[in-house]
Amino acid sequence: MPDVDVLVVGAGPAGAVAAWCAKQAAPELDVVLLERDRAVGAPVRCAEGVGDAGLREFANPDGADWVSRRIRDVIFEAPDDTQVVLANSGLGWILDRTRFDAFLAAEAAREGAQVLVGAEATAMSRNGDARWHVRVKERGREDLYRARIVIGADGVETMVGRWAGLDTRVPARDMESCAQYVLQDIDINADAIYLQFSRAIAPGGYAWIFPKGVGVANVGLGIVALKSDGRNARQYLDDWVARRFPGGIRTGYTVGGVIVHTTIKQTYTDGVMVAGDAGHMINPLSGGGITNAMKAGRLAGHTAAAAIRARDTSARRLAAYHHAWMELLGEDHLKYYRIKHALETMDDEFLNSLARTVSKIAPEKRTLGRIFTQALMRHPQLIPVAARFFV
Ligand SMILES: Cc1cc2nc3c(=O)[nH]c(=O)nc-3n(C[C@H](O)[C@H](O)[C@H](O)COP(=O)(O)OP(=O)(O)OC[C@H]3O[C@@H](n4cnc5c(N)ncnc54)[C@H](O)[C@@H]3O)c2cc1C
Repeated sequence: MPDVDVLVVGAGPAGAVAAWCAKQAAPELDVVLLERDRAVGAPVRCAEGVGDAGLREFANPDGADWVSRRIRDVIFEAPDDTQVVLANSGLGWILDRTRFDAFLAAEAAREGAQVLVGAEATAMSRNGDARWHVRVKERGREDLYRARIVIGADGVETMVGRWAGLDTRVPARDMESCAQYVLQDIDINADAIYLQFSRAIAPGGYAWIFPKGVGVANVGLGIVALKSDGRNARQYLDDWVARRFPGGIRTGYTVGGVIVHTTIKQTYTDGVMVAGDAGHMINPLSGGGITNAMKAGRLAGHTAAAAIRARDTSARRLAAYHHAWMELLGEDHLKYYRIKHALETMDDEFLNSLARTVSKIAPEKRTLGRIFTQALMRHPQLIPVAARFFV
């Protein structure tokens, strides 16, 4: 029975960074990172967009081969296609997640963690032992690992959380179903991301165009099934793409779920922490989870290393992870969640008039502060939405 200090389940951004940071903080520990798919980073279920600052906390994107595109502008689109361009609104990147996730796992390996691909955790129990026993299927064989700490970084469908008795259920209204094509030969500004908000186009979510190069982009949308008119995410996407890019060539397709909820009430128990999507650590307003997952992974890795050194892996000790996360981003996510629900009461007609108000501000004067002030002055129905940020 392999005996390890830290067993990380899932080699997405949360898991790879958790393994990397645990090993970096305590090089004497045995750290194993499991990935059930045959390759880290594939298949990609993501639009691959990240902000510059969050990314740079972990890696330098300048000239990196895991970057597809540098982004400068953001274009918001109203339901009637009125555009609000935020030029030079801050740097962002469209990653190549196949390469990026592999890069993060390689960093963990360089630090000394063992990375196993095609290795799936299938069950976990304690049987009165202080360590967790995790069943791992690899190459048709099944091994039982004994681990002092298990980090569940196994994404939206997390089983580690459930096996450990944590409540990871997602309310139906907080689960977005997404569909996305890679489209070629489309006419877009390749330095900008496009976000279109409309109940008719993407009820409960939004539609996006994230360029991977000139004329090539991840084009997708997310919907909340409870709000749909009976169509599924792919049918909504097909209708949108048929209108926007009738000549676009589809060279990729993916589906996936995004949890637009808030961090689960408890992300830890004796000898277990969950990180990233597994703990619902996604920005509920944007649906962005990559850098959130990395930040949670870093906290989980550091907490695991310190707990094992202190010979205390109890829930009481690991609670420090939850508190640190809530202080770092979890509390902000609660505010974003309230705003998201307040915004859902606004209909397409309102969004169209809001876009027209904002587009009257001269492009060079379009700062977020000015947009916000103008929007509140002209559309007082937004005041309760803004108030949600503070209560
Ligand atoms: C369509 C779509 C578009 C998105 N676009 C963006 C975007 O543009 N920007 C952004 O920031 N976020 C985006 N997200 C969200 C983002 O992809 C996730 O938040 C992010 O990947 C979370 O990282 P993670 O490490 O928690 O989980 P994941 O990246 O899902 O990684 C979990 C890993 O665990 C593995 N695993 C699962 N179970 C087991 C097991 N039992 N044993 C071993 N391995 C296991 C999985 O194979 C997977 O590799 C998008 C999501 C979707 C679905």
